Parts: sequence; structure tokens; C-alpha cells
Amino acid sequence: MSAEKPDIVAFLEDLFARRGAEDYLGEPVSMASHMLQAAMFAEREGASPELIAAALLHDVGHFANEIPPEVLARGEDNHHEEAGANFLADYFPPAVVEPIRQHVAAKRYLCAVQPDYFARLSPASVHTLKLQGGPMSADEVAEFERKPQLDACIRLRRWDEGGKDPALAPPDFAHFRPLLERLSGG
Ligand code: FE
Repeated sequence: MSAEKPDIVAFLEDLFARRGAEDYLGEPVSMASHMLQAAMFAEREGASPELIAAALLHDVGHFANEIPPEVLARGEDNHHEEAGANFLADYFPPAVVEPIRQHVAAKRYLCAVQPDYFARLSPASVHTLKLQGGPMSADEVAEFERKPQLDACIRLRRWDEGGKDPALAPPDFAHFRPLLERLSGG
């Protein structure tokens, strides 16, 4: 992607086409199907365009080697939520980017505040929860609840959790292209 005037939507469309068939972390769906399912749920619930885009793009940070090194250099740990958010922040508004940045924290939050939430995690998500620090502490919960995007973060997390169904046939990337073009000013 050129540094001068990158076409972010074309880049993302190409990314979904080239890499989308890869496995989604041990889940029975591909990366593309997972993200498209999350976006489909967001759309069905009448979420804002920004939040539909967040659902669609929430895991692009898993493709770390597609993200320019200078963007990764901005990150502290470059876990996938941070890498993806820092990359997308150059093109999309905070209402798209911040729920993506918080989507792992939202899982840790929900596991702390909702006793039944942990039981609904897939085995792969239970495994990554451990690596991500486990459920939030009471202090972390209190801090997370002060975030203005709290509701958006929780909604995205639920779509993320739901988008692991191999029987679902979500719309393809092209369905969401106009929405991404509007949001990125492209
Ligand atoms: Fe995800």
C-alpha cells in the first residue's frame, strides 16, 4: 500500500480475498466468515455504520504481517486488537476503531461481571482468555465502565462470540464495501 494515498477499502477487500480462508484460531470458521458473521449480526441489530464496520474489521490485526512496520512501531505490545486499531485509525473514525481496540478487554470484562458469560466461550476463546490476563479485576472493571464506548465494546464482543457458526452464510465483503467507503471518506 502506498504511503501517499492508500485506498484502504481496496486493501481490505484484497486482504479478505487473499487471507480470508485462513483458520480463525481453532474455530470451525474461516477468518473472513468470522468477521462477516459479526458484521451481519451488527447489521441485523440495526447497529450504527461505525459499529458494523468495527464488527467487520475487528480481527484484521491478526494479519500482523500485512500491517506496515511503522504502524506496528506505534504499538506497545501489538496484540491483535491494538495492531488492528492502530492501523485502522489512520483511515476510520474513533467510533470504528475504539471498539476494535477494546474487544479483548470486553471479553475479560464480561467474564468478570457476568457469571454465565465464561460458560458460553468456545474452547479456543477460553484458551486465549488465559493468555490475555483472565477475567478483569474489580479495579479494571471500574475503569472499563468509565469508557464512553462501553456499550459499543460489549455489543461488538457479543457479535465476535456469535460469529463462529460454520452453518451461517454471511454476506460477502462487497455487501459492506459502500459502508466502508463512506466511513473512510473514500
Ligand atoms: Fe474475533
